[in-house]
Parts: sequence; C-alpha cells; structure tokens
Amino acid sequence: MLFPIVCPGCGVLGAAPCAACLAGMRRVADRALPAPPGITRLVAPFAYAGPLRPLLRALKYDNQRAALGWLGAELALAWQLAGLSGTRSWAPTGAARARRRGFDQAELLAWASVGAAAGIARADRPVALLRREPGPAQTGRPRQQRAEVAGFALRRPWWRAASVVPSRVVLIDDVVTTGATLAAAAAVLLAAGCTRVDALVVAWTPPPSSRRHDFHAVA
Ligand SMILES: [Zn+2]
Repeated sequence: MLFPIVCPGCGVLGAAPCAACLAGMRRVADRALPAPPGITRLVAPFAYAGPLRPLLRALKYDNQRAALGWLGAELALAWQLAGLSGTRSWAPTGAARARRRGFDQAELLAWASVGAAAGIARADRPVALLRREPGPAQTGRPRQQRAEVAGFALRRPWWRAASVVPSRVVLIDDVVTTGATLAAAAAVLLAAGCTRVDALVVAWTPPPSSRRHDFHAVA
C-alpha cells in the first residue's frame, strides 16, 4: 500500500473508518432532534457513542484527517436528506487553542460538508461569520458548567465597515452536547439580522434519560 490509511476509530490499518467501526456507529433514527435555543432545526446523522467518539477526538485533538472525507460525505447526505439551505458557517473554537492546534475542526467539517470533489460553488462555500470572545476552555469541564460558554461576536472583514449576515445560516460542528455553544452562536447571528439558524452536527449526545430510545445501531 502506497498510502497506508489508519482508522482513527481503532487504529487498524485499512479504511477510515474501518468496517468494524462503521458497524458500531449509531445512526440517529429520529431526525427531529431537540434544538438548542435560537436554532430552528438540529440535524445529526449519528449519536455521539461507540467508535465515533475516538474518531472525532482524533480529528479534534490529533489532527487525524483520514476520516474527514467520510465525515464530509455523511454531513452532505444529512444536509440533503434534511433539505437544509443557507450559508454554511461554524462556531469557532477558542482562538488561542485553535492557533495552538493549527486548525479548527468545525471549519474543516464545514468545508468537508459541501461534499463536492470537483470545485465548490460560491454559494456552498463556508463563510466565517463569527469569532470567539476570549473565555475558558469547555472541554473537560462538568456538563452543567459548559452552559456558561464563552461568547461569540460577529467577525467583520477588514474591508467592510459593518458585518453582513446572511438571512439563513447553517452552523456546522462535530458534536452537540448541551447545545450551549450553538445557542450562543445563534443568538449573535439572530441579533445581527439573521432570520433563521439551523445546525448540522456529526454527532448528537442524547440526554441520559433517552439514550435507549432515540437512536439505533446500524444493522
Ligand atoms: Zn476502526
């Protein structure tokens, strides 16, 4: 093999994800997920469980992009099935941490979600609409503390006097847990004149009470 591919879910050589990891992913059966405040519709193809957890962590913390093509294809399919429309954007991670890592996984996913191998139409290009206000890291903090997330602000291009916000925005992200991050991002966009914000995430974290009912394993 000229370019050996390692599955970010389990580390086995072959495909990303490998067949075993793929079989362990849990697809969300009910497409009408409870949306965070400000988000009209929350769409997620998968539950945040099983091999998807190490796979997404590998992207986020180790910059392992082997599964990015697959993730993008899944997001593109979910976008299509849900009939989403609007400008693709993302809730950026804390600037200092993103700089340290050299990339923002939400931005990577937003670009991957277009799913086009040959050229990306101008209308499909993700647009950086938000910047993160300085604040504490969320990862590793208890679930209830994550509600107090750092704020967002509109990102104004240097050549413009004011920010121009599209009327419909779809925020793309890796995982939604409490939804506080998406809600904070949506609040800024709505206050700036956006009329509708939807969210498309790879994985939705079911609340503990509903973990058995809202999704099923891929057969
Ligand atoms: Zn695997």
